[in-house]
Amino acid sequence: MFIWALLAAVVGRFAEKKGQSASLWNIISVICTPLIGFLFVALLPSTSELVPRAFRRCPHCLQTVKANIDVCPYGHSEMSEELCVRKAA
Ligand SMILES: [Zn+2]
Repeated sequence: MFIWALLAAVVGRFAEKKGQSASLWNIISVICTPLIGFLFVALLPSTSELVPRAFRRCPHCLQTVKANIDVCPYGHSEMSEELCVRKAA
């Protein structure tokens, strides 16, 4: 029982690293066995991997555009990091 809870906690940590809810996956692991919980979390896409490296999110219209372009095809705004920082400031 102790090992069960420990494994569920590990699954929770693993889920948290992927940007998922740790407590949610902790509970799922306790109910559905930590092994199944771990497999589910492993199959889940990481929130940090949702936008692949070849793509980035336009800071203006929040569309995913190719990383190598300079002007957003949606909002026609410049995609420079400088502009991004300036706008956030
Ligand atoms: Zn845009």
